[in-house]
Parts: sequence; structure tokens; C-alpha cells
Amino acid sequence: LSAILKFGTPAQKAAYVPDVIMGRKFIALAISEPNAGSDVAGLTCTATRTPDGYTLSGQKKWITNSTYAENFVLAGRVAGGGERHSGLAFFIVSKDAPEFTIRKVNVTGASISGTGYLVFKDTPIPHSALLGSEGQGFVMIMQNFVHERLYISTITIRLSRICLEESVRYAMRREAFGGKLADIQAIRLLVGQMAAKVEMMQAWLEALVDQVIRMGKKKSDTDLAATICLLKAECGDLYEFCANSATHVFGGHALVASGPGQRIEGAVAAVKAYTIPAGATLVMRDFGGKSIFKKSKL
Ligand SMILES: Cc1cc2nc3c(=O)[nH]c(=O)nc-3n(C[C@H](O)[C@H](O)[C@H](O)COP(=O)(O)OP(=O)(O)OC[C@H]3O[C@@H](n4cnc5c(N)ncnc54)[C@H](O)[C@@H]3O)c2cc1C
Repeated sequence: LSAILKFGTPAQKAAYVPDVIMGRKFIALAISEPNAGSDVAGLTCTATRTPDGYTLSGQKKWITNSTYAENFVLAGRVAGGGERHSGLAFFIVSKDAPEFTIRKVNVTGASISGTGYLVFKDTPIPHSALLGSEGQGFVMIMQNFVHERLYISTITIRLSRICLEESVRYAMRREAFGGKLADIQAIRLLVGQMAAKVEMMQAWLEALVDQVIRMGKKKSDTDLAATICLLKAECGDLYEFCANSATHVFGGHALVASGPGQRIEGAVAAVKAYTIPAGATLVMRDFGGKSIFKKSKL
């Protein structure tokens, strides 16, 4: 939805935003393809101009919310519009568009995400489906990612804190070796490390959100994009550390979907459902590092 809020015309906003905000309809963001994930500029799903609008041909893979969504914001390559970064555009496509099929994909750690594989075979869409302008798609996709990476960071910090809270709760109750788990130094070390890492990351997130608010969305979408990539990567590592640590605190209960470990079970598998979408950890670090060298005046 953020792409429509950011780049949509007043008519597009009126048509799509209220239903999604009110929870009446879902919308999905379809960028990745079987052969183009991290390399967004390599996508090949093609929009060919027709007198009535465009026809879409191609595939999209790993698209969250696909099985629930009424509409898709889709990144396509305009036929004849240039190669790589220059030829991309965003379109809004209805699930009811002709010659458009959606198949559910089961993804580890994200079973309720409605992930789907989309196929378009000369699917007609009207002129009004174009979001923003032709050729601006790559910049729009990248700017849209900034928001998504910030909220994924927020989610992973919360999930990490749940691992910490549940570990503290369990360690204070579980009896072992004549006392509680909390009396065992090794457990205290793990909990102490989790708490320190969660608080550090929360502080960084809040500082960055404060900068976003002060700078304004437009400037922060460019000036803070690389820092937010680095934040997303670190938040992924944090969640991985906390999910693993909580598993050590809970022992066998971490592997059972009911009982005291029910909020921890599945956490280790779920980590990758946050560290790969919207920019895999290594890609985030590479982009962040590249930006440091580019901007450095040292
Ligand atoms: C649970 C889940 C939900 C998703 N939801 C969506 C969605 O809603 N919409 C959507 O469009 N996509 C979605 N995706 C797709 C996701 O964005 C891609 O999987 C991701 O961008 C990585 O692309 P890829 O899987 O093709 O891996 P590749 O691009 O093939 O890369 C494989 C690995 O190589 C490394 N790598 C690749 N390039 C570089 C580089 N330049 N620098 C450093 N390392 C690199 C990374 O570690 C990467 O994990 C989702 C994926 C998952 C797993």
C-alpha cells in the first residue's frame, strides 16, 4: 500500500487506500521473479503497450499475501522502454484480471503469509493501472523498500523481545539442579546478552525513526536508505541470536507448539522469513558498505 500512498494519483488513492486501511481488503507487492530477486533491475515480466493500456506477460515468485490479496502492486518492464534500471514501471493489477493465475507456495517459517507464484499470459490491464510514470519504476521500487525495511526492522526487534521476555518468564519458573534455571550462570549470561542486544537495537531504531521524522519522508528515502539497510541486517542478526538463545533456555519445550514454549517454537525457522525478503542480509550490508565509501569525505 505504501507505493500507492507515495506515488498514486488522487483517484488511485481513493480507489485502493480506504479498503486496505480499514482491513476490508489485502494488497500485495509483486517485484521478485524466479530469476530476479536481489537483482531487481533484472526482472523480465513485461508490459506491452496496447490501445487500451498494456498486456502483462511473465511470472512473479514469493509474493506475500498473494492468496488473500484483491490487488497487486506489480513491477514490470515496459516493452521497448530500455534495459535494466531504465525500463521499469509499477502497475496496479486486480486478482480478477484475465489470464492471471495465482498458485500458493509453502514457505518455511511463514506458513500464514499467503505466499504465491503469479503467472501472467498476455493479461490486459487498463491505462489507469500505471502507478507513477513509465521508466521511473526502479527509483520508486527502491524508495518503497526504505519503508518496508524500517517496518521489518521494527517487527524483528519486537520478535526478539518476545524471545527475551519468554526466556525470563520460563527461567524463573523452571526447576533444575535444585533451583531455578535463572540460578544457573550460563542462562543468566544468555539472558543478559539478549537484553543488551535488544535494547541497543531498539535505541538505534528509535534514533533513525526520529531522523526520518525530522528529515521528512522524501529526503530520508534517499539520505537514510543505506543506513536503514544496515539496520535491517543487524535486526535480522538480533532475531537470529535471540531465537537461538531462547531455544537454549527452553530446551525441549522450544520444539513443541503448545505449552510454555509455544511462542518460541518455530522462531529459529521464522528468522529467515525476515532476513531474506525486502533485501537479503548480505545485500543490505553490501549496499550499506558501498554507500559509506561513496559518501565518505575522509
Ligand atoms: C518469506 C518471503 C517473503 C517474500 N515476500 C515477497 C513479496 O511480498 N514480494 C516480492 O516481490 N518478493 C518477496 N520475496 C522475495 C525476496 O525479496 C527475495 O527472495 C530476495 O530479494 C532474495 O532474492 P532471491 O531469493 O532471488 O535470491 P538471489 O537474488 O538469487 O540471491 C541469493 C543469495 O545470494 C546473496 N546475494 C545475492 N546478490 C548479492 C549481492 N549483490 N551482494 C551480496 N549478496 C548477494 C544473498 O545472500 C542472497 O540471499 C519474499 C521472500 C521470502 C523468503
